[in-house]
Amino acid sequence: AAKEQGRNTYCIFTEEMNRCLLERSELEHNLRQAIAREEFFLAFQPQVDQKTGRVVGAEALLRWHHKDKGLIPPGQFIPLAEESGLILPIGYWVLRHACAQNKAWQLAGYPPLRVAVNLSARQFQQPDFYDQVGRILKETELEPRYLELELTESLLMADAKAAAQTLSALRDLGVGIAIDDFGTGYSSLSYLKAFPIDRIKIAQEFVLDIVRDPGDAAIVETIIAMAHGLGLDIVAEGVETADQLEFLRTRQCQVMQGYYFSRPVPAEIFIEFLAENVAGACNGVHAML
Ligand code: C2E
Ligand code: MG
Ligand code: MG
Ligand code: MG
Repeated sequence: AAKEQGRNTYCIFTEEMNRCLLERSELEHNLRQAIAREEFFLAFQPQVDQKTGRVVGAEALLRWHHKDKGLIPPGQFIPLAEESGLILPIGYWVLRHACAQNKAWQLAGYPPLRVAVNLSARQFQQPDFYDQVGRILKETELEPRYLELELTESLLMADAKAAAQTLSALRDLGVGIAIDDFGTGYSSLSYLKAFPIDRIKIAQEFVLDIVRDPGDAAIVETIIAMAHGLGLDIVAEGVETADQLEFLRTRQCQVMQGYYFSRPVPAEIFIEFLAENVAGACNGVHAML
């Protein structure tokens, strides 16, 4: 029963609690050293334009290679990083590395593309967040339009006024703004007009059953129609099958991200997509990876 109440109430018995707390503090201790020990790396997942078959963007996803535990998924350490405040240095590292990597690809001669970075609320709400982004872009010499920031609806709604100001400043700089997991948070639709947003990402939980569940299909159709009406770009997340792809394509959703094309991959492997872009198209690249 304790387990069903969720993660935070899991450890209600003393023995269990001790073990849990110990594990948590040990993990937090390790997390604190992870940047210095260079245990983090970024995986990149392509976003593919259906009309041209080209990779038009990538999402950078954080990976932690723990010294004994191996690869730990972000779902397990991002919440801990948020609670402990470690998300601030970690988030800065992610932003800096994503921009530096993107610039390195451009310098290597690949056609430029947009790289999206996920933000946590605490990171975005720092008073100097805008300055941090500006500094990183300057240091890495990346043009702002090749950086996109992914935010969630709940992050925006937490302090809508402050968020609107920060977003406007970032938009003026030329940075792209995307709403991640669109439709899963509590929010009002009016914010789509109030905030300077470029793109919405259809949450993968709607895409998952799109072909079988008429409810999910209706939600996705509505999101696409609304995005078109508001002049927003749209990306579908979690596209795994040809049926899902076909459904989205026939409803004028053009850009797709998901295992059907590729899992998130390290930079060394991602350049194969960039090389395909040079060659013309990347249809069928997923078969390689
Ligand atoms: P997200 O931003 O919504 O990222 C999409 C997640 O879906 C990624 O999981 C990705 O690997 C996974 N995914 C992509 N395509 C498919 C598919 O076709 N099927 C399925 N089942 N999954 C797919 P990942 O990498 O484990 O990241 C989980 C979450 O952790 C992210 O969700 C994001 O909220 C957070 N996260 C990851 N990196 C960062 C980061 O650098 N900073 C922050 N603040 N959060 C991050
Ligand atoms: Mg994301
Ligand atoms: Mg998402
Ligand atoms: Mg998310």
